[in-house]
Amino acid sequence: MTPTRRLVLLGAALLLCAEAFAESPDGEETYGGTLALKPLGKVDTEALETVAASIKSTYGWKVVLDEEEALPQAAFYKPRKRWRAEIILTWLTERVPSWADKIMAITKKDISTTKGAVFDWGICGLADIDGPTSVISTLRVGRKLGKGTAKQKHQKYLQRLTDLAAHEFGHQLGLDHCPQKGCVMEDAKGTVLTFDHSTGKLCDDCVDFLIKKGWGDGLKK
Ligand SMILES: [Zn+2]
Ligand SMILES: [Zn+2]
Repeated sequence: MTPTRRLVLLGAALLLCAEAFAESPDGEETYGGTLALKPLGKVDTEALETVAASIKSTYGWKVVLDEEEALPQAAFYKPRKRWRAEIILTWLTERVPSWADKIMAITKKDISTTKGAVFDWGICGLADIDGPTSVISTLRVGRKLGKGTAKQKHQKYLQRLTDLAAHEFGHQLGLDHCPQKGCVMEDAKGTVLTFDHSTGKLCDDCVDFLIKKGWGDGLKK
């Protein structure tokens, strides 16, 4: 793609997601870095804005919408009709835009990877620890929403999506799972219900880790 076309696309994307993706009004460059958020297949604007807002508020990174692409066919696992997350990550490694430091893909499809003895384990997200790539799926965070009105359930889904994005991006910055209960880096241990007792924040130990790693810019304690 020519640089001009990419600029035009980005312009359109910024207009679409004006609030979450907007630059700070005073134009100050206080971001920790730039994350490209790449939809794999159609993803609704609300989900994209939720993820962008989460990364911005938790890590102080700028999030820019990247061009949408189809999921890579090589990642399709036919027996379960799921998409293998580790194959998506490898595919994404070649797709970090020149203007971005890291990339996060988002899809509505079900993603999976191998976990212990289970070859195909359905997951919410997967990230390269301290690496450039991650992928998250909106599917599983929208399940098991419990009782409540449609509006309450939708709020719960958005809260989980917020935490999922912050969790996977934390891995991309080098954070491992955290033993602190309620920390956004707590191990989900295979259930979306873990998200429901998350504080939505990094604990002090995780914040200290990031500061030592040099990712302190834009971090809010
Ligand atoms: Zn994790
Ligand atoms: Zn922690």
